[in-house]
Amino acid sequence: VIRIQGLRKSFGANEILKGVDFSVRRGEVVCLIGASGSGKSTMLRCINLLETPSGGEICFRGQNVLELGKERRAYCAKLGMVFQSFNLFDNLTVLQNCVMPQLRVLRKGKSQAEQTAREYLAKVGMEQYANAKPRQLSGGQKQRVAIARALSMEPEAMLFDEPTSALDPEMVGEVLKVIRDLADTGLTMLIVTHEMAFAREVADRIVFMADGVIVEQGPPEQIFDHPQQERTRQFLSRFR
Ligand code: ATP
Ligand code: MG
Repeated sequence: VIRIQGLRKSFGANEILKGVDFSVRRGEVVCLIGASGSGKSTMLRCINLLETPSGGEICFRGQNVLELGKERRAYCAKLGMVFQSFNLFDNLTVLQNCVMPQLRVLRKGKSQAEQTAREYLAKVGMEQYANAKPRQLSGGQKQRVAIARALSMEPEAMLFDEPTSALDPEMVGEVLKVIRDLADTGLTMLIVTHEMAFAREVADRIVFMADGVIVEQGPPEQIFDHPQQERTRQFLSRFR
């Protein structure tokens, strides 16, 4: 569904993405790994048009999304994004957080939006917190609500940027479990993570990025057990 070709992004004279090529197929779970500063977040932000690439193509179902005009908004609504820092609206309840984007972007009716929101809150085990405010929740609970909010938009693919790295260790497991369950439903997902055991278990494919390029990619067993590139070996040795 997503194909990236020759993607480049510079900030001033600093080239962060130096020609990235890869794709995510429908129903595939891809985990993107790599050192801090290698350009993982920048790439996700280019995919959902939060950043404008300096060059290359991003195709969604064969359409170059960088050429879209007013259909950009519809395209962005097809991608669910979950950030490290939740980004919930603190003055809205959990339910309202999941309902509002459906009203604003999808122009759904309120009762239908609420029904959808409750369905996904149940899926992440947060239905009993529907009327709570985000400040009453733990980090793990907030992240599960953020996932439910993204799912409520019924996206074609989910993008996760280090969904557990802002969490206390005891809350990492509950969020990873939710993502693992989603993987089992066949949802298309691109996940940036430093949780190597999780990546090995959940991913169909691992993509290793360093210094703005993709160094190596393949099935988890290949990347973790038999990496072909010295840079991949060096990076992974830090996690052993
Ligand atoms: P991490 O694992 O720490 O999240 P990352 O792989 O996600 O790292 P990016 O956040 O994509 O890395 O950042 C790559 C580089 O781009 C960094 O050197 C960062 O300073 C730079 N960068 C990112 N956003 C901007 C920006 N808006 N302006 C200038 N430089 C930026
Ligand atoms: Mg990042």
